[in-house]
Amino acid sequence: MISHRKGASGFRLFHWISLVAIVVLVAACSPFQQNENSADNSPEPAKPEKIERYQGEKSKAVSMVYTTQRQLALTFNGMADKDTMKRLLDELDKYHIKAAFFMPGMRVAEEPDIAREIVARGHEIENNTLNKSDLQGQPYEKMYKDIKLTNEIIQRETDKTPRYVRTDSGEYNDDLRLVAAHNGQEAVVSSSLFLHNWQKETGADKSRYLRKYMNRGGIIAMDTEENKSLIENIRLLAEAATNVGYRFVPLHELIAQGGERKPLQEIPGFDAAKMNAAYNESKPNLIYRKETDKKMVALSFDDWGTDQTVTKILDILNKKGVKASFFLRADGVERNPNLARAIAEAGHDVANHTYSHPVNTKIAPEELQKEIVKAHQIITEAIQQKPTMYFRPPTGAFDEQTLKAIAATGYEDITIYDVTPSDYDKKRSANEIVKDIMEQTRSGSVILLHMLDDIHTTEALPIVIDQLRSKGYTLVPMTEMFGQ
Ligand SMILES: [Zn+2]
Repeated sequence: MISHRKGASGFRLFHWISLVAIVVLVAACSPFQQNENSADNSPEPAKPEKIERYQGEKSKAVSMVYTTQRQLALTFNGMADKDTMKRLLDELDKYHIKAAFFMPGMRVAEEPDIAREIVARGHEIENNTLNKSDLQGQPYEKMYKDIKLTNEIIQRETDKTPRYVRTDSGEYNDDLRLVAAHNGQEAVVSSSLFLHNWQKETGADKSRYLRKYMNRGGIIAMDTEENKSLIENIRLLAEAATNVGYRFVPLHELIAQGGERKPLQEIPGFDAAKMNAAYNESKPNLIYRKETDKKMVALSFDDWGTDQTVTKILDILNKKGVKASFFLRADGVERNPNLARAIAEAGHDVANHTYSHPVNTKIAPEELQKEIVKAHQIITEAIQQKPTMYFRPPTGAFDEQTLKAIAATGYEDITIYDVTPSDYDKKRSANEIVKDIMEQTRSGSVILLHMLDDIHTTEALPIVIDQLRSKGYTLVPMTEMFGQ
């Protein structure tokens, strides 16, 4: 399968010979050799300059960008042979993708024509260290010189100054961030997905895998020297992006849109859910539907899904002018906070459905409270505001004790549902889902749907909305029905 870490790149003697040549070459016109004490112009013997640690701020570290724009970036490490690089550039042109190429300084020095071609075709060129190494555990001075020399080579050969640095594996430490800032780089960039060689996956497996990583604000990386399916992957990635309606944009454009996120503790209501052992005194408010003659109903969506599924649901609701209530599994939110924020930005209720979806009656009250508090914090941080204080137990299972334990955390409203078309079952068709909903719904109903992948909910949804409206129902979010 695909791992997120690969072995160190091969040691190549040629690189070290040309490294020496280039160091000498660049040093001749670099500030390394200048001696601050020399008052005259007489030639001095080479004296290595002492590099002091940078006293300013570290550069940013970026593995994904906080944005709800439907955009992501494609990036490459290394420089493969001329033929591979040419085919890769042609394929990118075919799909109108502008990428960021993190290039090893040595390879740019060896084959500057390739680097110039990349720039000429409108891609970004960035710093992949001198010899595509990890630089981990190196002394500050060595790291500094490696990054600086790589910048100088890229600048000399392409006339472009790299904005970003990335090591071979994408790993970095604080020193590397400091070194990057010292050299004028804006960020150390890793990735949200490092796509390595496929093993035995079928075409469908590959598409499914990539669909999972088509995230708003995502940064996808591949190594041009390692990955044997570069060309095929460009097509697969372009198709996956098209399917979800997202676009690959240049890395610096994506990073420029990234907002700063408030840390959790600065968001009002971050501590609205707390561990509370004295739960016997708590007052749970269990809700199934609203007793009313008013013809209103609420749509609710549980669990989590890929951008493709969730974005489709959001688009349908937006087109139909419907606000709904979403109960999120926070382990999904943790991996993809931008998507949770997109739900909140669209004006829907965003509520709590635990962190890892355990059956509440099968875990200890303390464990359950931990699940709820953790989910509350992750969702709060993702959407940058206090969520709707509704809790829905996974699978709808609860008993007296779990209700009390839930309410004691601060989530007193435990919001179930009365209309259950079992849409989570992949075998249920859109027609069956619609039929069940229309049969079960009455005034004040809460309809349970899911945002899982590969089910038929997105097909059923527009039909359900139209049919409910034709029966005179108004669709409202649960907060409007029950208050908060
Ligand atoms: Zn669930």
